[in-house]
Amino acid sequence: MALPKYAFFEGKIVPYSEARIGVATHAFNYGTAAFGGLRAYWSDEEEQLFLFRPLEHFTRLLNSAKILAAEFSYTPADLTAIAVDLLRTENFRENAYLRPIIYKADEKIGVKLHGLRDELTMFSVPFGKYLANDTGAHATISSWRRIDDNMIPARAKINGAYVNSALIKTDAQRAGFDEALVLTEDGHISEGSAMNVFVVRNGQILTPPITDNILEGITRRSVMELAAQELGMPVIERSIDRTEIYLCDEIFMTGTAAQVTAVTKVDYRPIGSGEMGPITTRLRELFNRVVRGKHPEYRHWLTPVYE
Ligand code: PMP
Repeated sequence: MALPKYAFFEGKIVPYSEARIGVATHAFNYGTAAFGGLRAYWSDEEEQLFLFRPLEHFTRLLNSAKILAAEFSYTPADLTAIAVDLLRTENFRENAYLRPIIYKADEKIGVKLHGLRDELTMFSVPFGKYLANDTGAHATISSWRRIDDNMIPARAKINGAYVNSALIKTDAQRAGFDEALVLTEDGHISEGSAMNVFVVRNGQILTPPITDNILEGITRRSVMELAAQELGMPVIERSIDRTEIYLCDEIFMTGTAAQVTAVTKVDYRPIGSGEMGPITTRLRELFNRVVRGKHPEYRHWLTPVYE
């Protein structure tokens, strides 16, 4: 990965080499930080960079920070303005990924959340595909379980919690799979390592409810709206059993990095025809157009970076 040229750090945009934290920083020692991940899409036609749903992403980030007892006066609109400023400074004319982090910045020993200084940082890098095989991924069911809301809140995007995702991803890849689906403690499908999951079964699109320890994905929410509005298929939120995964007609995963990724095989069992299915194909195409500003009805999801 190419390094960012700049970062927002301690209140201003600085050269990336100046955005440095000490090894005693609380967040580095204990994982006490919350982060976000946004994509910005370059449109050649409009010579414009579109930041996808920043208000929703920054609302979730501030909610995660709230769970970490962070005290911040920033609003989602303030964070959007900083993000736009940073992307402009980088002067990107290609697709990019933006990573904001709110972290416990004191250089202090002691496990707790309160009484610590909270800081915001952001950086951005050019970004392409996340999963190489995004039209025909082979997934496994992870032997790890998804973190539970009463352990490390799953609906918050907390840095330390991503050890769970990393264990899931590494074991899946080392076993020869592209991705993994992970179960809740009670054995229902929760999501992937860093993406939400949908299945198509008997003509219905299903996805686990937000009470099955999922991260409340912005892409998930967007795809649910596109399915209802454009395909006339409102998505049903309900718990999904492990073996429904083997028997369904289509599976796709959604996330900022993954976008809409088709899963066509799970544990060596072909899903449906074993090829990317028609509903996944349509939603994927629709999503890829919407994020580049090609659907006027969804332009309000996009914040243009350049004037
Ligand atoms: N689940 C997890 C654990 C994630 O890290 C992500 C990526 N942020 C998602 C789901 C998808 O969320 P979003 O669509 O908001 O990127």
